[in-house]
Parts: sequence; structure tokens; C-alpha cells
Amino acid sequence: MFQCPHCGKPAITALKKTVLGPGVPVACQSCGKSVKIAYPAWIKAALPGVLVMVAALFFESDLLVYGLSTVGLALMIALHLWWAPLVKEE
Ligand SMILES: [Zn+2]
Repeated sequence: MFQCPHCGKPAITALKKTVLGPGVPVACQSCGKSVKIAYPAWIKAALPGVLVMVAALFFESDLLVYGLSTVGLALMIALHLWWAPLVKEE
């Protein structure tokens, strides 16, 4: 669970945060106020995974292409969860 910037209580689950984008505020489970992910943090968290996936396109081997694409996707989701903090939707 991720902490709500309004009330400090658990706001959303990891699964919900994974699909949460910067333009899509959701209601906190505890207080009902809207929370979202800040745009610069979202870009920063997505970038390393995107770079890995782009790098995968330059390999001839199918195994490397699929392997790196999977790693890139996993990296995107992991960094999104760790780096992109929840902020108040004003
Ligand atoms: Zn809250």
C-alpha cells in the first residue's frame, strides 16, 4: 500500500499504482481525496525501462529482444512503484 499525501493513511494498492498515470487521479481508500502521480517523477521512473526496451530493438537474437523487452517492462513497473511518489490532486 502507498501512503496518502492528504491523510497519511494507506491510499492505494501497488497494483492500482502500477496502472496509475500522471493524468489520472484516483480517490484515496482512507479519506476519499484525489491523489495522483507527479508528471516529472513519472517520466523519470519510466525512462530507464523505455531505454532498455529501445536498446532491445538493436539486437538480432530473438531471445535477447524478448528478454530485454521483458526486463525493460519489469524495470518500468518497478521504478514506477519506487520512484514516482503520490501527490495531492488540487
Ligand atoms: Zn487519504
